[in-house]
Amino acid sequence: MLSHENGRDVRSHLPLCDSYEWFSQRAWVEIDVAAVAHNIQQLRKLVSPGAELMAVVKADAYGHGAVTIAKTALDSGASWLGVATIPEGIELREAGIKAPILILGATHSAEQIYAIAHWKLQPTLCSPKQALVFSDTLESSNILEPLPVHIKLDTGMSRLGTNWQEAAEFVQLVERLPHLKIASIYSHFATADSPDPTVMNLQHQRFEDAIARIKDRGIDIPCLHLANSAATITNSAFHYDLVRVGLAAYGLYPAPHLRSKINLKPVLQVKARITQIKSITPGTGVSYGHHYIADREMRIAVVGIGYADGIPRNLSNQMQVLIRGQRINQIGTITMDQLMLDVTSIRDLQEGEVVTILGQEQDQKITADDWANQLNTISWEILCSFKHRLPRLNLKVSRR
Ligand SMILES: *Cc1c(COP(=O)(O)O)cnc(C)c1O
Repeated sequence: MLSHENGRDVRSHLPLCDSYEWFSQRAWVEIDVAAVAHNIQQLRKLVSPGAELMAVVKADAYGHGAVTIAKTALDSGASWLGVATIPEGIELREAGIKAPILILGATHSAEQIYAIAHWKLQPTLCSPKQALVFSDTLESSNILEPLPVHIKLDTGMSRLGTNWQEAAEFVQLVERLPHLKIASIYSHFATADSPDPTVMNLQHQRFEDAIARIKDRGIDIPCLHLANSAATITNSAFHYDLVRVGLAAYGLYPAPHLRSKINLKPVLQVKARITQIKSITPGTGVSYGHHYIADREMRIAVVGIGYADGIPRNLSNQMQVLIRGQRINQIGTITMDQLMLDVTSIRDLQEGEVVTILGQEQDQKITADDWANQLNTISWEILCSFKHRLPRLNLKVSRR
């Protein structure tokens, strides 16, 4: 995978031609590694000094590249990593990362349990039944060390976890099982990004109630955690011993009302190169279905990026890109590997020039939030959609 280790300034209106391999890239994702460090440091300042910070790097760090993001986050003040699956955890271990890794998703089978123990990953336990499978599997294995496990309570998300009312019995069961050691108890908010805190406060109250009842049974809890990015930014009462931040680490705000509370820098940009420029006459149709018809003499540019790279096809005829700091309209249906632009306004544009699909040029930006609003989805989904066939260029020096 390509990376600019020396982090040179890459002026986006000039072709990159320092190596044949690089010059030949039709499209790529740029990762501003310094922005990750900035975001983690800003979060670190916001979080109660007694609480640790987990960088959630599931789904290949929301499409940013898990290993680079994890290493940068750990160097910048995070001490935990969160992933969704065992293979995501193994990728980090294989890259030499030693920090504790929590698997946020569910795991069940004996093979998964052996892999967890072997790679020193830490599973989430969601039910008494699952806890018994873990204990029995470890009993019949030759694994001697107790496995650190994290108890998940459902306080209102209705996703993984045991209901908060049954928390005390569940925790007591796990406490008494051989081979397992409770490392933390946690829950997850359903509406932390909403300006209305009613449900979040209810979940917080339920979590508090469950913890009180667990403590009543004389059980010692080493670590409690509840907050995702939105809850972390909203209220320090949710920080407990650890916060789990995903989106904010990537420089996006979980909701507009949180913008004033912390300064975050977007990490990811998507770039592509112009592969051909041509003139078309009035009445000429552009792309599949001819959903765009030229109403005048036009110059159009073909760009080497399409929906197979993660550009949403539903943005056809509705998105803009940046070239030389100008906003340029995309025209016609977005195809699998290519899309077209109306570049009539830039007279001397050259084939090979770089187009910013998502990101910033001079004072113009096109953000994941813009796309999310247009497509009626959330920025989390936009970030996760860029496919692996886009190489990642890791820039070590921030350009903003
Ligand atoms: C994904 C996830 C997070 C991170 O959420 P953000 O909103 O991206 O900060 C935290 N906790 C759990 C359990 C998650 O699944």
